[in-house]
Amino acid sequence: MIVVMEPNAADEKIDNVARRVTELGLKAHVIRGTERTVIAAVGDERKIKIESFERFPGVAEVLPILAPYKMASKELRKEPTQVVVRGFRAGAGNVGVMGGPCSVEDEEQIVACARAVKASGGTALRGGAFKPRTSPYAFQGMKEDGLKLLDLARQETGLAVVTEVMTAEDVPLVAKYADILQIGARNMQNYRLLEAVGRSGRAVLLKRGPSATIEEWLLAAEYILNEGNPDVMLCERGIRTFETHTRFTLPLATVPFLHRKTHLPVIVDPSHGTGHSYLVTDMAAASVAAGADGLMVEMHPIPEKALSDGYQSLDFAQFDEMMIRCRTIATAIGKTLG
Ligand code: PEP
Ligand code: MN
Repeated sequence: MIVVMEPNAADEKIDNVARRVTELGLKAHVIRGTERTVIAAVGDERKIKIESFERFPGVAEVLPILAPYKMASKELRKEPTQVVVRGFRAGAGNVGVMGGPCSVEDEEQIVACARAVKASGGTALRGGAFKPRTSPYAFQGMKEDGLKLLDLARQETGLAVVTEVMTAEDVPLVAKYADILQIGARNMQNYRLLEAVGRSGRAVLLKRGPSATIEEWLLAAEYILNEGNPDVMLCERGIRTFETHTRFTLPLATVPFLHRKTHLPVIVDPSHGTGHSYLVTDMAAASVAAGADGLMVEMHPIPEKALSDGYQSLDFAQFDEMMIRCRTIATAIGKTLG
């Protein structure tokens, strides 16, 4: 942290700030300029309330230096983290693809999706059994019966299973069936749930809250990492803006930006990010080109009959075409997709 003093602040005020910095266990370096003095506080500033320095007489401004997250930060770990679950790999040169329906609907549907994902070269099957729906009257998911069907589809195909868990109490149940626990966008700041998945022993896909800043999102990841779970993936799924032509606005600069800030793999969900099936393939391709470590894409045997999110789901032929395009791009930038 840097404390910038007001112009010509008296020595007594400077000493007062420097003394408090020392009391808090940091080293204070006083740098006297021609007009202003700044005090550089050296040490782990995350443990102190740096805003409290704004209250000191003679202080003009307080500037944090360290990111408020630590475990998620590149300062802690320079090499990219690769999350490996069964044949699914995300990060460090691998682009992992999770495909499947928005919701598990019945055995025929989920098994058909799993076979199609596998045939196209995807490595994880998605499908919601516990669904967070805006309306309480909308289909809420098959719950444990849905988890059992995901397990069945996994047994047949060997794909890793990723599915959402909505409450901390449900974590043991969902972790019994899932390989990767998905934290939905609406739950990104449910801190007790984050701690629970942090203790689950399962990899976690942390979706970005539609109104969350990147810093809030990384701090949410920090909750999971702090419980000793290193297998955390961040999933950009679009944010809420003034634009109404797409369901959300999908900011792809998030991908290279996060790669500067964190070692965690960055996944993109172009289905929720656009809300239109005709935009999904282009945005999936753009995500891979931007450096995404994985994709999460909704697909369905008959999208127009889907119980949820059919309008943004690809059919099997479209999913296959998307995979071919994305693989071409991945290969061109020296990565492996699957
Ligand atoms: C989903 O993946 O089906 C889902 C509900 O996504 P989000 O939490 O990003 O809205
Ligand atoms: Mn969905």
